[in-house]
Amino acid sequence: MVVQKVYHCNNEILEWKWSSDNELMPQHMWTSTFLIDGLLIDAGAPGGVDDLRDFINSLNSKNMVEKCVITHNHEDHCGGGRMLQKEFKIPVFANKLAISLLREKKNYPDYRQMVWGVDYRPFEAEVLKDPIKSKSSKYIFDIVDTPGHAPELISLVERKQQWAFITDAVMPKYKMIFGKHTDIPEDISLIFQSIKKLYDFTKGMDNLLLFTSGKGVFKGRSFLKDRMDEINSLHLNAHRFQNEANQKGLLNKQLLRYVLKKMFERENFVGILTRGGLSNKNLIVSLLEWPME
Ligand SMILES: [Zn+2]
Repeated sequence: MVVQKVYHCNNEILEWKWSSDNELMPQHMWTSTFLIDGLLIDAGAPGGVDDLRDFINSLNSKNMVEKCVITHNHEDHCGGGRMLQKEFKIPVFANKLAISLLREKKNYPDYRQMVWGVDYRPFEAEVLKDPIKSKSSKYIFDIVDTPGHAPELISLVERKQQWAFITDAVMPKYKMIFGKHTDIPEDISLIFQSIKKLYDFTKGMDNLLLFTSGKGVFKGRSFLKDRMDEINSLHLNAHRFQNEANQKGLLNKQLLRYVLKKMFERENFVGILTRGGLSNKNLIVSLLEWPME
């Protein structure tokens, strides 16, 4: 297993990143948890529970975690929730929708087991109240519902500091998404709406920092605007190529193949590795299901 600690904003934010070192993985896939003045955002993957325990044990009393917030129910964000509760008596909070999902066992495909580990332990999280304060009340986080990647997904925004913890709500690039037949039924129109919501919510924050899970920290609201422009252009193209395909008399699979070729040339290797779970094709299907206004 590989662990990285990255400090941000004069060490006020500690990002603890974890990846499996499974040799079958073509590259590291990181998941992040953030520690800010005693508030832990997310709890890592099932495969990282031992490492997360070591991390918590390494903290001195000043830095010790006081509470944890889970942003969403995916295995790479809630894997250590039960351990934090049972072994460290740390209260773990989530929104109502997430709470009902966190108490269930998970059954996710083998490629995700390879990346994130298998042994998810269900637990009962407590109801998250908006806003939530850090340990010394120095930081106050507003909760913003940002569905699309997952229905229960939330982002946390510290207005004064201009920090937004968006974890998986926004991807640095939109090439593929999970499809409706998976347990992560991403919806590109909802993702777009959530990005717009974050953009509007952060109005006037000229020094905004956006913290994603394992995919880096981005500066400025322009990052959100660029994603909106990118999705708008994908949306437009998907419908344009669909019209072209219609004119050629193509239907169903043939139509999708035509749009895929025009937009991405071919399916990404991740699409093949995940047997269509996370794919270009799913992005196109979701773009086409989203009507043009
Ligand atoms: Zn996720």
